[in-house]
Amino acid sequence: MQLTYILELLKPTKRKQNIFLNSIAEVVKNRQFIAEKLKAGENKLSSADFKEINLPSAVKNQNIREVKALYKLFLKSNSSKDNLAFKANQPICYNNQNYKIDHHIISIPLYSTKCQRFAFPVKQTERFEELHKYIKSGCKLGKASLFYKRGKWYFAVTIKIADKETTNSRVIGIDIGLRQLAVASIKNSQGKEINRQFHNGKQAGFIRKKYRSLRRKLGQAKRVKAIKNIDDKEQRWMTDLNHKISRQLINLAVQEQVGTVIMENLENIQNTAKSLNRADRNLHNWTFYQLQQFIEYKAQLAGIKVEYINPKYTSQSCCKCAKVKKANRKANLYSCECGNHIHSDLNASRNIANKYLEQQSA
Ligand SMILES: [Zn+2]
Repeated sequence: MQLTYILELLKPTKRKQNIFLNSIAEVVKNRQFIAEKLKAGENKLSSADFKEINLPSAVKNQNIREVKALYKLFLKSNSSKDNLAFKANQPICYNNQNYKIDHHIISIPLYSTKCQRFAFPVKQTERFEELHKYIKSGCKLGKASLFYKRGKWYFAVTIKIADKETTNSRVIGIDIGLRQLAVASIKNSQGKEINRQFHNGKQAGFIRKKYRSLRRKLGQAKRVKAIKNIDDKEQRWMTDLNHKISRQLINLAVQEQVGTVIMENLENIQNTAKSLNRADRNLHNWTFYQLQQFIEYKAQLAGIKVEYINPKYTSQSCCKCAKVKKANRKANLYSCECGNHIHSDLNASRNIANKYLEQQSA
């Protein structure tokens, strides 16, 4: 699988920063020219076609490849726009022959009056250490890009690591929702529960209400920009929480020697959040999706497989006797005539695990 590491660079000097910014401006120009040529039907492009652009030819070639791919997507999208338009803040892309990572220094070619290599120290972080371990163990670096965001410079590096996959037969069924953001049930291959984990949504609900009332107040004052800031803040808060939840779930999975994570295919999640207004529902779809992505990513890193099952009846059926009855679920409690009384989301997470185990044994 391919991983991306976003490394923060230590603050460059004013002179270097200006060279960076100039290069970015050249990249924007280069990409726009490429898009124009593609629109004019010129498909055979090389760096020599862009002599007026001050960039290393390797970067020009990389731009050509990327804009060609984007242009294909643009044509497919049937957009009403005239052509691709590149924003002023473009990343500068490199392939693995253009840049080097040596200890804590990244060196890349940039153009001022002539092409020069520049060395940039990277901020030492745990992530950077992790990347180093992969490089040392012989993993191959892939594409990278240099970009500027909120006053800081970053270098995003991709690296290909070997897929390791466990053969452990234990599974973890994870139910994702609102009252409980995630509930997990770990089962062995015979269907016996070994461990469980709850992540309740009380705090998230509280934060959501807080931001909603803030938004309402600002809405009356028509402060669009302030509202946007609040939205960003709320998103960052949720993203952070999703990182924590996914980390704890996968830690438990590793500790319990789980081989497969099972989640619901949530493409039609609308129904789970009926009680919410539309804006909240969109936010929730987004955070549910993000949480699943984080879980998937961390699971793969740990060599754990990820499978998705159809969510039909997972919350309505009894995890003990498999009877399907919607009325048996009342808010937090699932009560079945067979004597099974259980937290409704734990019931769902067990069903998710069961569904997969049944498919396996069928
Ligand atoms: Zn039952």
